Amino acid sequence: MEENMELHQALKKCGKEFMKTAFIYNDKFATFDYGRDHPLKPSRLKLTYELIRSYGLLSLPDALCVEAEPASDEDLVLFHDRDYIEVLKAGGEGIRLPGAEYFGLGPGDNPIFKGLFEWSRLITGASLQAAKMVESGEVDIAFSISGGLHHAMRSMASGFCYVNDPVIAIMSLVKKGRRVAYVDIDAHHADGVQDAFYATDMVLTISIHETGNMLFPGTGFERETGKENGRGYSVNIPMPPYSDDELFVFAFTEIVPPLIQKFRPDIVVSQLGVDSLHSDPLAHLNYTNNGFCEVVRKMKDISPKWVALGGGGYDVSNVAKAWTLAWAIMNNVEIPDEIPKDFLDRHAGEGFRSGKIRDDAYTEKGEQKEKMRKEVEEVLGFIKDEVFPLIRA
Ligand SMILES: [Zn+2]
Repeated sequence: MEENMELHQALKKCGKEFMKTAFIYNDKFATFDYGRDHPLKPSRLKLTYELIRSYGLLSLPDALCVEAEPASDEDLVLFHDRDYIEVLKAGGEGIRLPGAEYFGLGPGDNPIFKGLFEWSRLITGASLQAAKMVESGEVDIAFSISGGLHHAMRSMASGFCYVNDPVIAIMSLVKKGRRVAYVDIDAHHADGVQDAFYATDMVLTISIHETGNMLFPGTGFERETGKENGRGYSVNIPMPPYSDDELFVFAFTEIVPPLIQKFRPDIVVSQLGVDSLHSDPLAHLNYTNNGFCEVVRKMKDISPKWVALGGGGYDVSNVAKAWTLAWAIMNNVEIPDEIPKDFLDRHAGEGFRSGKIRDDAYTEKGEQKEKMRKEVEEVLGFIKDEVFPLIRA
């Protein structure tokens, strides 16, 4: 504690602004299991927690570590249909109700496994807790690493997501009269969140992702801009496969800060999926955690208050490294590149061979890069011409 106070004072002396932050976590996260061959490993959350702890980032004087509590049925019906909730409950008991496949449940992406309802309630409760602490002013930033399950629809499981915690967290804020912007940097399009707010100008949703021509869920094209009152309030930045940090940071910077400035939200909710990093097995983007951090820093700068959620990430060491770096940024702390030895000793052979937390820089070059740049510029041009004029403060 003494040491932390010293660190605190030293940082204050360098003129660094101090934020109150909350990290939402529960040891139970890692006890759930989608099945041996399923790419989504809840154990990645424990790995992240442990890496963050080994850097001493849970005992900073202005950072709280809060135990996640499960969401109630009433919380879940802020977005989901009651019939669907009943199917999820049965599924969680290992019972497959007739017609479960119509709700997206079954072998494959959204398996029925014991505890699936408890898992969904817990991660939703975590994101709601993050929203509540930020809304009440208790903290400036809250990070719910288990959240960001952005594909779930009103009565349909999709893309490993049973309950859409970003939508429920946003609804809880809107109910309190808050103006919310949602920014999603996962490799996959935030289709469930876009769908929930497609016809309203109350919530601005922005998703930057690998193009739906190449990747699940096959949506998220720039021409999907919202309907009725929501026209202009759904923004999509599809990126070509193999895009690198330079293109990612360029596209983000050209679109997201100016839109946030125009929309003037009270709170930004963001999804920080890291399946966009180069070694992820499920997508084809070539970002590194350096580009990720640059974008996270910008996200922090543009957010008056900030609810940060986790998201995709199927290379578990990438997840732990990237979200540890993100949590350090949220707390204005610069951490050394060398991963603490006690962590490495415990997790040797789990993708931490370099012993460093930051990735090597990676840049695409040549003709292919110029082709990608042109594609991205066309998308950005469309958004600036067609979408920017529709956004009102
Ligand atoms: Zn994803």
